[in-house]
Amino acid sequence: ASAASLALTLTACGQSGEGGSKQDSGSTKGATIGIAMPTKSSERWIADGNYVVADLKSKGYKTKLVYGEDDPDQQVSQIENLITQGVKALIVAAIDNKSMNNVLQQAKDANIPVISYDRLILGTGNVDYYASFDNEKVGELQGGYIVDKLGLKDGSKKGPFNVELFAGSNDDNNTRYFFQGAMKVLQPYIDKKQLVVRSGQTALNQVTTLRWDGGTAQKRMDDILTSAYKSQRVDAVLSPYDGISIGILSALKSDDYGSKSKPLPVVTGQDAEVASVKSIIAGEQAMTVYKDTRQLAKVASSMVDAVLNDKKPEVNDEKTYDNGSKVVPAYLLTPVSVDKANYQATVVDSGYIKESDLK
Ligand code: BGC
Repeated sequence: ASAASLALTLTACGQSGEGGSKQDSGSTKGATIGIAMPTKSSERWIADGNYVVADLKSKGYKTKLVYGEDDPDQQVSQIENLITQGVKALIVAAIDNKSMNNVLQQAKDANIPVISYDRLILGTGNVDYYASFDNEKVGELQGGYIVDKLGLKDGSKKGPFNVELFAGSNDDNNTRYFFQGAMKVLQPYIDKKQLVVRSGQTALNQVTTLRWDGGTAQKRMDDILTSAYKSQRVDAVLSPYDGISIGILSALKSDDYGSKSKPLPVVTGQDAEVASVKSIIAGEQAMTVYKDTRQLAKVASSMVDAVLNDKKPEVNDEKTYDNGSKVVPAYLLTPVSVDKANYQATVVDSGYIKESDLK
């Protein structure tokens, strides 16, 4: 859009007034909220988008929902368009958390508050609030599950066991929190040689998976099995996300894991996606971390509603999430560990996944 048409749009939306940092009271009724989600290639983000839209509608807002198809440039231009179209607030789950500087300056200039959704946007002061889960806890649940299932936690087994490590996308701020949380649990066992990483790949920058891609993880697992497991067996794989877990399991199965003589390792996951819950029921993936996106959507839309009505949104963490420019006040929800024993009581009984979808 030309600068003139942008100015026109903003004037029409009543946002060009000098020095008016507050919304006019009443002007938010029926306002349109822009929602930028990262990708439709994973179920959770489709659910997130739908829940946020439904919640905002129930509060009387209109919405514009866009998906960036895991392309940071596309996402930035989508957000520029939302700003041009006169949205009154933005909810953003970033693809590349460091790519938002310019576009969020445009949001600031247009007096549009920004909620960082699930993933923290880095390097800009123009992020008002953060709605997410306790991301370090996610990793602790994954790492904790591994040492528990291997019998190391209660000391019933001493090992050594072979473990391999996978992390998420390096441009997603959550990745290091998940990994830190998991390593907090695993590292002491690695130090005691009760856990051994035969590939030698233990640093975060050696184990990330660009854009959380399952195929990329499958390829890396293939390579590791070929190079480090000729005469050894892998006992556990730390996987940060269900899509990655499915890729890892494919690599393992092509190497005959899952047969009688070669049991599958303990493979973790995250998001309680249908394919992974099915895999858990079938005894393949061991666990996932359930994060109720219905709750997250509620938190984010309540934040928008509060900010647009000059109220302070409810937060429960004002110290953890420093984005390099400011500590962003956050509301963090609690993740839940799910395996074969409790999937029914957690994801099914809560209505998160329909029983019939698991058939
Ligand atoms: C989310 C995870 C998700 C991952 C891949 C992360 O930012 O917190 O829930 O598994 O992105 O989509």
